[in-house]
Amino acid sequence: MGSGDLWERCLSLIEKRVGTHVFELWFKPVKLIQFKDQNALLEVPNRFFKEWIEDYYPNIINEVMHEVTGSNTNIKYKVAEKEADEIKKMDARLESRRQRLANKGIYLNPKYTFDSFVTGQSNQVAFASAKAVAESPGITYNPLFIYGGVGLGKTHLITAIGNYVADRRKDFNILYVSSEQFTNEFVSAMRHQKAEEMKNRYRSLDILLLDDAQFFAGKNATQDELFHTINALYERQKQIVLTSDRPPKDIKDITDRLRSRFGMGLTVDIQPPELELKMAIIQKKAAADRLYLSDEVVEFLATKIKSNIRDIEGCLIRLGAHSALTRETITIQLARDLLKDIIVDEVRPITIEQIQKTVAEAFGIKCQDMKSKKRTKEIAIPRQVAMYISKRLTDSSLSDIGKCFGGKDHATVIYSCRQVEERLSVDDDFNRLIESLINRIKQ
Ligand code: ADP
Ligand code: MG
Repeated sequence: MGSGDLWERCLSLIEKRVGTHVFELWFKPVKLIQFKDQNALLEVPNRFFKEWIEDYYPNIINEVMHEVTGSNTNIKYKVAEKEADEIKKMDARLESRRQRLANKGIYLNPKYTFDSFVTGQSNQVAFASAKAVAESPGITYNPLFIYGGVGLGKTHLITAIGNYVADRRKDFNILYVSSEQFTNEFVSAMRHQKAEEMKNRYRSLDILLLDDAQFFAGKNATQDELFHTINALYERQKQIVLTSDRPPKDIKDITDRLRSRFGMGLTVDIQPPELELKMAIIQKKAAADRLYLSDEVVEFLATKIKSNIRDIEGCLIRLGAHSALTRETITIQLARDLLKDIIVDEVRPITIEQIQKTVAEAFGIKCQDMKSKKRTKEIAIPRQVAMYISKRLTDSSLSDIGKCFGGKDHATVIYSCRQVEERLSVDDDFNRLIESLINRIKQ
């Protein structure tokens, strides 16, 4: 198969998976310009495409490549000539810094700094505490525990602490890990009799940055190891920073002694951004991307994008891609059009029927099964998912939702939502599926 045919095959598989609309906008313009020894070089019109694809469909190209070629492919992107020079200059500094730190074994996203973090009422305290910790690690607040909802800047802040310290204390041993990485590392260390090595590595740190600590729930041996690690670091006045989507007291299924360690220093939260903060972030990010937006459009976006800063970025990437391709000025109407799957228009409330239909379609079951009494997994899971999404996207009460599912009571709805939430907290693919269903329903 020539590389042209190969890419054609990939594209048609992608189109099947993402739908024609998304495909035309984001995947069709991507070209395969080189394919050798399982290394693929893809050309994108501008860098927004790469970011967008990686954000929304991080594995899709690997997956279809695997499907078509039967083996794993290494994917690299290249931005079409014209834009590449500008970007190169802009990214060169960040990239060389990333390299320099990586050589020392420190892996931190160089974009996440205190300078690039915009502050407002909702995140001021978290920001100031993080900065204080970065200025005198191990001395002010230990541990620092930052919690808040998805996409509100926890990873950004915890990484900023690492970047700040890495620039000022060259000899510091800094480690950023997510709780999932920590867990995997621990499990594999146990399996390969390397527990001692891992222990030594963690206990020689000057700063431990541990992201998404809620994922420790239920993993007892790992929790014990973490508990001892925290104690050892704390005793030697080494800094520990943790983030989570909820405060220590609400993390279920962790041991009491670990919970009390989490909360032993300072606990701060990040609230959803207020309108002014959203506007400031939009302005700053648009300016950095050289995307011109009128005040009117900035306000429109800030009002429509509800609470999540990651969504704001998603919107700007899309607007940026469009304006880079067409040179059209972004008006409110155009923004509304381009972003119709992200921003919710209040005039068209989402109905439970609509949700049932979309979910049934996605799982390949009949819509009336949503209302049936069948309890097989094939039916029960989509039904639970539809109930969960109904609770999230409509204002219906639990018992109203139950009624729409063939007269189930409200306890059944609560149970279903909990089942879905539990799986969401451990299963990334399931998460992605639910998010894409929600996006589809909002269209
Ligand atoms: P969380 O870890 O809380 O889910 P992230 O830290 O990953 O959220 O933030 C999501 C995105 O939003 C990141 O790209 C981050 O840079 C950006 N972001 C969040 N808060 C801010 C802020 N106050 N200023 C600038 N960018 C922000
Ligand atoms: Mg995060």
